[in-house]
Amino acid sequence: MNILVINAGSSSLKYQLLNPETEQVLAKGLCERIGIDGKFTYKPEGKQALKGADVPMPTHSEAIQAVLNALVDPVNGVIHSMKEIDAVGHRVVHGGEKFSQSVVITGEVMAAIEECDPLAPLHNPANIIGIKACQALMPNTPMVAVFDTAFHQTMPPVAYTYALPYEYYTKDKVRRYGFHGTSHNYVAGRAAAMLGRPIEQLKLISCHLGNGSSVTAIDGGKSVDTSMGFTPLAGLPMGTRSGDIDAGILEYLMGKYQMDIQQMLEVLNKKSGVLGISGVSSDFRDLEEAAPQGNQRAALALDVFAYGVKKLIGAYAAAMGGVDAVIFTAGVGENGPETREAATAGLEFMGIKLDAEKNKVRGKEMDVSAADATVRTLVIPTNEELMIARDTARLTR
Ligand code: ADP
Repeated sequence: MNILVINAGSSSLKYQLLNPETEQVLAKGLCERIGIDGKFTYKPEGKQALKGADVPMPTHSEAIQAVLNALVDPVNGVIHSMKEIDAVGHRVVHGGEKFSQSVVITGEVMAAIEECDPLAPLHNPANIIGIKACQALMPNTPMVAVFDTAFHQTMPPVAYTYALPYEYYTKDKVRRYGFHGTSHNYVAGRAAAMLGRPIEQLKLISCHLGNGSSVTAIDGGKSVDTSMGFTPLAGLPMGTRSGDIDAGILEYLMGKYQMDIQQMLEVLNKKSGVLGISGVSSDFRDLEEAAPQGNQRAALALDVFAYGVKKLIGAYAAAMGGVDAVIFTAGVGENGPETREAATAGLEFMGIKLDAEKNKVRGKEMDVSAADATVRTLVIPTNEELMIARDTARLTR
């Protein structure tokens, strides 16, 4: 069974063709600068790759057509015809309270996804454009939507309710939703497999630390709390996003610098986080290079980030009444021994203790705990595409 996984953004589209049973990735790549000029990257297994080739992409439709053309290309393709694509799985960022699971896309489902647009105005409309472009080119292929928010729909009211007038929840759906659900769900499953214990018996804290970061408390396989909120701006400081700040700061800065709300949000989304603190970069590798050379703001940015992760580990252990394993995943979580070390230092009192040698691992599944740790610390590379392909296969088989 071959599943095409599509992750459509406003001007880019990531894709992967994979077999969810064997986990074999036949090809993957990226369309960039959609609506501008069009750059096409294609990496087929065992064949010649294309990197940033000029392919005109006025809309997402041409981008998806380029993907399909490449996949069936007589020389560098990986399948003979489009018939070998059994189904398409689409990543959709926001499923609101409507979707607590992945669903087969129907007209009714499309309308319900569109209703969630106001909750994720930057992401959902792009996801919908991707789905529509795919449907037009592959009218007979079943499609599935997999939501970033779905995994967190198990959170109890005590975790998702904001202390605002309650009508803003009942009328306007203002609550914590959480994101990165596909990733947290995947690594939780892998953690149970690594520990050789049923997920129903485990209390896990999953730290997805990348360009965007979130931490999730997973009790018995279910998300019970997570650090992102109504939008992906909340929680930890990130590459360029502020994470949680005092809402009072907005009025103060907007008044002082004559900013309107759009300008303020631009600062919070694009100019804050570790980039804002350091003034150096949003990329952790740049910060890890600058800090030892004496750049104090880069060092401070790394410290603020790791301190944020540590506080969430403590908070979620308290929320669940214990923790069996802490998971590190995504770009920084998988590849950043320094961040893992800093985020867990001083947590020996909780039973969390790393083995310095094992913690050098990058990008590989590994239990990096010290022998005498009572809480396991696991490095687990995430695989959102595989999770999307599995759900798509299960729902369309
Ligand atoms: P996204 O949220 O965009 O999917 P990723 O999960 O790919 O992001 O994470 C990107 C981050 O991972 C970048 O800040 C990058 O610096 C960091 N990263 C990647 N490799 C390393 C590494 N070897 N050491 C430290 N950080 C790394």
